[in-house]
Amino acid sequence: MKVLVIGSGGREHSLVWKLAQSPRVEKIYAAPGNAGMAALAECVAVGAEDIEGLVKLAAEKAVDLAVVGPEAPLTMGLADRLAETGIMVSGASRKAARIEGSKSFAKDLMERYGIPTAEYEVFDDYDQARAYVGKKGGPLVVKADGLAMGKGVLLCQTTEEALDALDQVMKDRAFGAAGDKVIIEEFLQGEEASFLVFTDGKSIQPLPTTQDHKAIFDGDQGLNTGGMGAYSPAPVVTPALHDEIMDKIMRPVVKAMETEGSLYQGVLYAGLMIGEKGPQVIEFNARHGDPECQPLMMRLKTDLVDILEAIAKGRLSEMKIEWHDSACLCLVLATEGYPGSYEKGLVIEGLGEAGSNEDVVVFHAGTRDKDGKIVTSGGRVLGVTALGNSVAQARDRAYQAAELITWTGKYNRTDIGMKAVNRPGGGMK
Ligand code: AMP
Repeated sequence: MKVLVIGSGGREHSLVWKLAQSPRVEKIYAAPGNAGMAALAECVAVGAEDIEGLVKLAAEKAVDLAVVGPEAPLTMGLADRLAETGIMVSGASRKAARIEGSKSFAKDLMERYGIPTAEYEVFDDYDQARAYVGKKGGPLVVKADGLAMGKGVLLCQTTEEALDALDQVMKDRAFGAAGDKVIIEEFLQGEEASFLVFTDGKSIQPLPTTQDHKAIFDGDQGLNTGGMGAYSPAPVVTPALHDEIMDKIMRPVVKAMETEGSLYQGVLYAGLMIGEKGPQVIEFNARHGDPECQPLMMRLKTDLVDILEAIAKGRLSEMKIEWHDSACLCLVLATEGYPGSYEKGLVIEGLGEAGSNEDVVVFHAGTRDKDGKIVTSGGRVLGVTALGNSVAQARDRAYQAAELITWTGKYNRTDIGMKAVNRPGGGMK
């Protein structure tokens, strides 16, 4: 079959890498793709948010399966438009993607169905929002309601900071229309984990647990990014917690979406805070996480096409999904300055050597080919992803491989995976 993968990040490269291993796949197109994907797929210069361009491309290339990576096209209805043309699609419908595209929709849904999440209020009136901040007092979290490329969340330690954040979102319109409404939330304490399930809308199957590292600097300091590294499994999610998350969060939310007439089909991602009150939902995402997708794809044994087909056809309950026992860790290499402004077009060396170990795959994010050389084209550039017998071993391999890669201004965190390694058991599975 012919497959079209939409997106250009490390997440999409890992999806292409996994799909390319399927005996059922004869050809992969990536739109727009990146220099890493180009080794496995034909990259076509159609942007991930060019809905009509993508529908046309899928028809022209007679694609059988389309896999949508990022959230923006899902919230714009890409999955619905592609499905209308009769092809199989992996990606949430526009209605279902509201679980990510509108934080107020997600929060209201959780409240109505008793799914544990931070206490919150939604405001479209600036004065009322200010009064609420004054009444509650810091620490608080202020969020723009709509999609803001992961940047519309302001963590405020004090009341002053929260009032400032309101000004940024509602007065200065720092996130544009995403800030028409704000959510003001209780500041949750604890350790974060990512919990994903495949679902066809009725049946659900969990993926192995993962943990992301959002902040730019070691020790979770500094600004939030798209993610600076991830590992799987995440030992913070003990077997008992796993059951609790499935029973109190994942099963109820999938059922709630069905009840609300927004059948959720695809991969559903819950960002969780594991604290004293047990697991609480920070947010839902209507797609794979990036970087979490990279270690997950390396751990997946089953043919991804079979899984996506079972989801699309409502037959997930018949699928037995298998995972490699190994742990896996992805270290993101970024360019200095990210998540602020940074240079582009810097020549990357050492890619071949870094990927020569069979337990290591270097997934590309912001890269492009320039006259036969691979150069940087984004803030997050590569995801050096390694398997190991434990998170500790996977971590060693990923860091060793990453040292072989160089460019001017290469930056990475030095503590990816340390929360797992430092737990009793030393990051063993
Ligand atoms: P979100 O885009 O909602 O996932 O938020 C981005 C990041 O902000 C999360 O991964 C958390 O690190 C942090 N965050 C969001 N909401 C809260 C909250 N209520 N309490 C503590 N941290 C939060």
